[in-house]
Amino acid sequence: MAGAYVYDFSEGSRDRADLLGGKGANLAEMTRLGLPVPPGFTVSTDACRVFLRTGAPPTGLDREIDEHLADLEKSIGRRLGQPDDPLLVSVRSGARFSMPGMMDTILDVGLNDASVLGLAETSGRERFAWDSYRRLVQMYGTTVLGVAAARFEAVLSRRRAESGVADDLGLGVSDLVAIVREFRALIAADTGEEFPQDPREQLDRAVLAVFRSWNGERARVYRRREHIPDDLGTAVTVQAMVFGNSGPDSGTGVAFTRDPGTGRTGGYGDYLPDAQGEDVVSGVRDAHPLHDLERLDPAAYERLIGCLGLLEAHYRDLCDVEFTVERGRLWILQTRVGKRSAEAAFRIACALVDEGVIDWPEALARVDGGQLDQLTFPRFDAHADTEPLAHGVPASPGAAVGAAVFDVAEATRRAEAGEPVVLVRPETSPDDLPGMIAAEAVVTGRGGKTSHAAVVARGMGKVCVCGAADLDIDVEGRRAAAADGTVVAEGDTISVDGTAGTVYLGELPLVASPVTHYLETGERTPGVVEAVARFLDRADATRRLDVLANADTAEDAARARRFGARGIGLCRTEHMFLGDRRRLVEELILARDDADRKQALDALLPLQRRDFTDILAAMDGLPVTIRLIDPPLHEFLPDHTESAVRIARERAAGREPDAREVRMYEAGERLRERNPMLGLRGVRLALVVPGLIATQVRAIAEATVARLRAGGDPRAEIMIPLVATVEELRPARAEVERVLAEVGREAGVAVRCPVGTMIELPRAALTAAELAGEADFFSFGTNDLTQTTWGLSRDDAEASFLAVYLERGILPVSPFETLDRAGVGRLIESAVTDARRTKPDLRIGVCGEHAGDPTSIHYLAGLPITYVSCSPYRLPSTRLEAARATA
Ligand code: ADP
Ligand code: MG
Ligand code: MG
Repeated sequence: MAGAYVYDFSEGSRDRADLLGGKGANLAEMTRLGLPVPPGFTVSTDACRVFLRTGAPPTGLDREIDEHLADLEKSIGRRLGQPDDPLLVSVRSGARFSMPGMMDTILDVGLNDASVLGLAETSGRERFAWDSYRRLVQMYGTTVLGVAAARFEAVLSRRRAESGVADDLGLGVSDLVAIVREFRALIAADTGEEFPQDPREQLDRAVLAVFRSWNGERARVYRRREHIPDDLGTAVTVQAMVFGNSGPDSGTGVAFTRDPGTGRTGGYGDYLPDAQGEDVVSGVRDAHPLHDLERLDPAAYERLIGCLGLLEAHYRDLCDVEFTVERGRLWILQTRVGKRSAEAAFRIACALVDEGVIDWPEALARVDGGQLDQLTFPRFDAHADTEPLAHGVPASPGAAVGAAVFDVAEATRRAEAGEPVVLVRPETSPDDLPGMIAAEAVVTGRGGKTSHAAVVARGMGKVCVCGAADLDIDVEGRRAAAADGTVVAEGDTISVDGTAGTVYLGELPLVASPVTHYLETGERTPGVVEAVARFLDRADATRRLDVLANADTAEDAARARRFGARGIGLCRTEHMFLGDRRRLVEELILARDDADRKQALDALLPLQRRDFTDILAAMDGLPVTIRLIDPPLHEFLPDHTESAVRIARERAAGREPDAREVRMYEAGERLRERNPMLGLRGVRLALVVPGLIATQVRAIAEATVARLRAGGDPRAEIMIPLVATVEELRPARAEVERVLAEVGREAGVAVRCPVGTMIELPRAALTAAELAGEADFFSFGTNDLTQTTWGLSRDDAEASFLAVYLERGILPVSPFETLDRAGVGRLIESAVTDARRTKPDLRIGVCGEHAGDPTSIHYLAGLPITYVSCSPYRLPSTRLEAARATA
């Protein structure tokens, strides 16, 4: 029966996650696949959106739920809450994007004072019935009625203490009956209303509570972090209960089709006998490894492995499932394509290619540059012979060091002050999310690889060690005690190894990751390195964009080459004027006449020539795009204010200040600009300070000659910055050509270097057709182009109002981080079109931070440009993203 808002499991499928949420859609998919799924139906996200908008459920929803509930009751042969033999249901949240544990779910709906007796009677298991009732009243009390969870926890722990039992499993029927009574008194006292006895009222209010949980604090924090839109809403799935808490022949668990940490195949997960729902994830009891189920109930285990195989074949990817065994019978309650570590993402995708399940384009879609970056982060030195403070489950790989903190408030406080922290908790709940976001790593005392902490940390790429049982964590006292008596107090530095599952006191030394070792040396080793190497090979064969590097030194050039750069797209020459060469630049600035100036420039020439020769050697056979000096000259002078102070102090003391200092101060006074970024820099400087271009070009040309004589293949290209008009480019270019020819004549070899221009002013972009006539190539300097298009200083804005804009959502992201398509992008596109009209085969590149940003790369890959140029460390992920943009 197809209605407007409610869909039976038999009506949905996995491609309807928009409407049914991921959970509802996949339950429908599994039902269609014939897996053992308890029957049910899903209220659509449409209904939730109406509710969120108007504060009331849509008209007709009630009747639709009536009809679907009647069908469900008919198919099972019991009515919701029927006193002698009740049907119970779960009311489950589930949005389009997985938000594990961030919204609410209520189990055992339909129990009341009468049906709890019926359930006890028909099941023959009285404890089980009261345990379920206890769970319902507790979940309903917190979720629907808003009583603080801690109030119920306090009752439970007092009862456990009174009865002398370690966990809830030890509580007997009389305990549970008493607890239910206390819970209900608590609800009445806190809310002024009784726990509702009418099963249908329970159901309806549970549905609305799940709707409301979309806007709960933790759900909103999670969405912001994961960039999930706020207006999607959640679906609500109503499903017949199956009971993992009905005795030792029952239980509940979470399983993966492969290890989500390493990608190794084989069923993998946690199992908890005689338990329901959240018991595994919340870490209230320590779960057993999945293999224990094989021993406890081989038949159920076999069936589960069969289901896992079927699901992986069907979804063609790693899946995780929630399952329950009720008196030996297996039920599947949820599946989704599972979250995984970066390492597992690469290994699984490679394995699936080898198994013939997916092809390379699909494999490329399943990993990203961010994951690759993670794999290049350093690890702890395995040879450091420090004894771990505690061992736990290696839940999310990597190494992290930080100050131990024991609650969210302290974690966020210290992190905001810039201090790295490690969040240490007995277990985490969704309320700890802001603390997890703030922390470098998470350590918990309880729970396994499928606990909340583990799942969330893996999703965020955060280091995590779970279930460090030998750590006695005292949140109140803000300390943790290790088995050997060592105490970690709040603020103490600890080191967390999420790959090995160990925690250390103090700061452990770090070493390069195996993937970085591969990038540096090219040595391939089996496992994750081999998987990454294959992906990069594929990426290089797939991508259309060339990837070059920004490098200013021979050392950077060599690293860039090892990291896969196809040349240098931006070599900044100003770095060659720093350090002890600064004095020579000062001489140039202080020069009183042409002779002085020539002397200063002549002194700079051999130094630059050597730099260029080394860089050209490191990039032999590949283009090296050298940008002529760009920053304003006064940046090379000593700090103006400090000079003024020194001079004034000397004079005050009746001494004559240092003559050179005075001259530099005066030069600074002359050169200083209110707005240096829009001042005398780039091509303007080259045209105004005679000899500057000539010296730089001579150094490049002589370096080229030197490399040619050494039998090399130098490919220097000369790039002129900050051009606004072709009238600047023409004379600048003529001067470049003149010097090249001159050096060529002196050396007796032809020195040919392409000469191009940067496009980093709106006027340059707008007059691209004319500039193209004088340029052999274009390079878009998107940092400056963003600054000048927006009229927004990069150096100042980030610290002041841009932060406010981002906070208030006036801008979704900084235009310096992700290229602004509507503005800067439009200038680039029109410039490319105009330039190509003048010169169809003009080479066009993009250098600037944006070349290392995935979103920007995907945009740029769609333009008819030739290359992007990024910093050496961004190269691997940029190579990968450029291929992903094409595949
Ligand atoms: P979450 O999105 O937080 O995982 P779920 O809706 O999946 O929330 O439910 C929470 C827990 O309750 C899970 O462990 C799930 O397997 C269990 N659960 C949900 N519905 C049922 C049901 N009908 N029978 C038994 N257990 C259920
Ligand atoms: Mg939940
Ligand atoms: Mg779930």
